[in-house]
Amino acid sequence: MFINTHTHKQLFDAKIELVNLNISALEKPNNYSYGIHPWQIDTNGYQLELKLLEQKAHEKKCLAIGECGLDKLSSVDFLLQQQVFIEQIKIANRIKKPLIIHCVKAFNELLNCLNLNNNEVPVLIHGFNNNENITRVLQSEGFYFSFGKALLGYDSNAAKAIKQVGRKNIFLETDDADLSIKYVYKKAAELLGIDEDIIKEQLKHNFETVFKIKL
Ligand SMILES: [Zn+2]
Repeated sequence: MFINTHTHKQLFDAKIELVNLNISALEKPNNYSYGIHPWQIDTNGYQLELKLLEQKAHEKKCLAIGECGLDKLSSVDFLLQQQVFIEQIKIANRIKKPLIIHCVKAFNELLNCLNLNNNEVPVLIHGFNNNENITRVLQSEGFYFSFGKALLGYDSNAAKAIKQVGRKNIFLETDDADLSIKYVYKKAAELLGIDEDIIKEQLKHNFETVFKIKL
């Protein structure tokens, strides 16, 4: 069984595809997440969007809040980004669903937002492609790491990080890439030096643990 933990469109090549949906999306796939991305914060309308997000996040097929987080390269004011992120942390904790995180050059602030708001839900850092030090800090927080396209790059940070993290705390994804999740599984198995069947079994277990569903 293949599981794609974060994608922006259905590719129909995995049993579970957690599709990142906009809160105004009309078409709904089998499994999805809702969140306000740090690039897409509407300065005038975000309070209404947050309200809507909280209502919709209760939907049974919505398995997580996100992607949400912080991005120092985004043109959106960084204080506003933190404010909107904190509200999403609170929503996730009220409804007890995991957070799928987008984070660029802001890991210290990310940890502050989560810890100062007593986050207790599982945290998945999506599209992970960061260095050894950041990996170690996030590991010590008990976070999960979701790897995608970067894994396929030769000698990428992601390819090193997956070995550092180990199979118990990882997920795989395609994000917005035109790529089959099957290739990501193949590469992950190769990097971890284990059989593809073992990684499938492990990721199923990881998914069941974090998203509290039986597959
Ligand atoms: Zn994404």
